Amino acid sequence: MTTGNLTTEQDYSLACNVCAVVQTVRVCTVRKDKYLHGLMVQEAFPEPEFNSAYREQIIGLRSGYHVCDDCWDSVTAYEEEE
Ligand SMILES: [Zn+2]
Repeated sequence: MTTGNLTTEQDYSLACNVCAVVQTVRVCTVRKDKYLHGLMVQEAFPEPEFNSAYREQIIGLRSGYHVCDDCWDSVTAYEEEE
């Protein structure tokens, strides 16, 4: 635990549901709590400080379902196959 830093950040592991690659996402727990308590993700993590790709990861942390960028391309390109 770090002290003397008002920004409370924590690293979370986020696994891709397709290829199982695990990414580490650093999240401000204050913002994450707001999101978990009902704030819209774009309100808790507004642009331009956070981009949409980052918000996708946050959503994945909450839902437990995440697809990494590489797989997202293939999922959207070949969603009719498989
Ligand atoms: Zn993947």
